[in-house]
Amino acid sequence: MDAKKVCVVGAGPSGLAAARELRREGLEVTVLEQRDGVGGQWLYDDTPTDGRDQLGAAGVHSSVYASVRLNTPREAMGFSDFPFRPSEDDSGGDARRFPVHGEFLRYIREYCDTFGLMDAIRLNTRVLRVAATAPPAPSDGCLKRWTVRSKHGEVETEEVFDAVVVATGHLSQPRLPSIDGMDEWRRRQMHSHSYRVPDSFHGEVVVIVGCSVSGKEIALELRCVANEVHLSAKSTDEVMTPAMSKMLARYANLHLRPQIDRLCEDGRVVFADGSCVVADAVIYCTGYIYSFPFLDTEGMVTVDDNRVGPLFEHVFPPAFGPSLSFVGIPAKVIEPRFYEVQAKWVAQVLSGRRTLPAEEDMLRAVEEYNRAREAAGVPKRRTHDILDLEYCDEYGEQNCGFPRLEEWKKELIWSSFFAMLDDVETFRDDLHDTDLVRDGLRLHGWIPLSRPPLPEEHGAHDEVESVQNSIKTDKAIN
Ligand SMILES: Cc1cc2nc3c(=O)[nH]c(=O)nc-3n(C[C@H](O)[C@H](O)[C@H](O)COP(=O)(O)OP(=O)(O)OC[C@H]3O[C@@H](n4cnc5c(N)ncnc54)[C@H](O)[C@@H]3O)c2cc1C
Repeated sequence: MDAKKVCVVGAGPSGLAAARELRREGLEVTVLEQRDGVGGQWLYDDTPTDGRDQLGAAGVHSSVYASVRLNTPREAMGFSDFPFRPSEDDSGGDARRFPVHGEFLRYIREYCDTFGLMDAIRLNTRVLRVAATAPPAPSDGCLKRWTVRSKHGEVETEEVFDAVVVATGHLSQPRLPSIDGMDEWRRRQMHSHSYRVPDSFHGEVVVIVGCSVSGKEIALELRCVANEVHLSAKSTDEVMTPAMSKMLARYANLHLRPQIDRLCEDGRVVFADGSCVVADAVIYCTGYIYSFPFLDTEGMVTVDDNRVGPLFEHVFPPAFGPSLSFVGIPAKVIEPRFYEVQAKWVAQVLSGRRTLPAEEDMLRAVEEYNRAREAAGVPKRRTHDILDLEYCDEYGEQNCGFPRLEEWKKELIWSSFFAMLDDVETFRDDLHDTDLVRDGLRLHGWIPLSRPPLPEEHGAHDEVESVQNSIKTDKAIN
């Protein structure tokens, strides 16, 4: 029998994980990627957006700014059988635990090369439309087929696939607040999606809306060149973490303000407490929304207040069974590992090794999940925010037999997270490991063992062996 043909949209970490897992299950994979390289967000794009739509996506995918350093520790990142090790040659890599963004791109490219994925990828190919082909015959069950229209240069192509995996990321389409006067304000307004370097803000007064990681980091970068930087928060109490107090105490030109009440034509930015500043620029660090402009499901999959649904376990729309799936929807998970879990599950279901519950049962499960989250006070727009390592472990175990994350890695992740809340400026270079973490690092070859490994210790050698075995298996499949 011919292998099922599967189209993966996007060659970021999720799409690459999907390509690899689908191949491992013997499926025929085509990855369509709009950009001229793999890596998704990590493929930095300094295309100037000046003069273009700085509040929208401006045709640019990556939201990474020049100074981004990872905020998750490299030892706990990475695909499960391909650790994110520093490069061994002198090619100018960044060996730090929290390296610059280019180091993660290097790793993603290495993953792609190591597992021979490049020959499945068509670069510079933008997907314009994905739609189910004519209603399937009852004998097809719910296995619909999909017509994918894409564009390479000026040439448009239509192809039919047995399944489509959407892996287009969720940090490219700006989420904007609605503020009185925003449309009339003639000075510079941009979303952090369009921010790259601080130079053009020299001597300016800048208001930054939103105090999450990017808001704080961009403020810290801008305060070095700008005259004043004002961070505006919906609730100044809620954002007053130790990290925020330290920033404000350290820098006299950095200020915390309440929510913006209105923007005035004369350049004034008026805050909810009546105070105001005359600003040169406003930068919205207000997050992103899910967007799938190419997907035509005739309303069966929608984005409502940032909830993509209905999606069984954030992956499968019940109405389409396994033939349409999403990898990379959840946020606040350990990446790319969690997306690898989803990719493995999709591949196992498409190859027939696992089955999905009946459509009604999947729908019921989605409703129960949503109700439970709502009862716990989670706003709808945060439906796909996870921030729960135990949930991730159970998810992987139940859906595709994925191993649990080691305890030392969990401890490292949480200690990094709390250190970031304590001091966003220093946590990356000043993290102190617990004994559990240090033992884990030693046993897995991240720091030297002070003695030869004991036979029962799964050490660096086992890990190297596991990667080598994975490569052999993948090569055998390809
Ligand atoms: C500033 C910043 C800092 C971050 N820091 C961290 C961090 O420290 N640690 C961490 O774990 N994560 C971090 N992230 C998050 C991380 O980068 C992303 O979540 C991750 O890249 C998601 O991978 P993905 O493959 O799902 O999506 P993406 O990386 O977004 O890849 C999606 C791919 O799909 C392609 N695509 C989209 N639409 C189409 C189309 N119509 N046709 C063809 N191709 C298409 C895109 O070009 C892209 O290559 C950060 C993100 C940002 C923006």
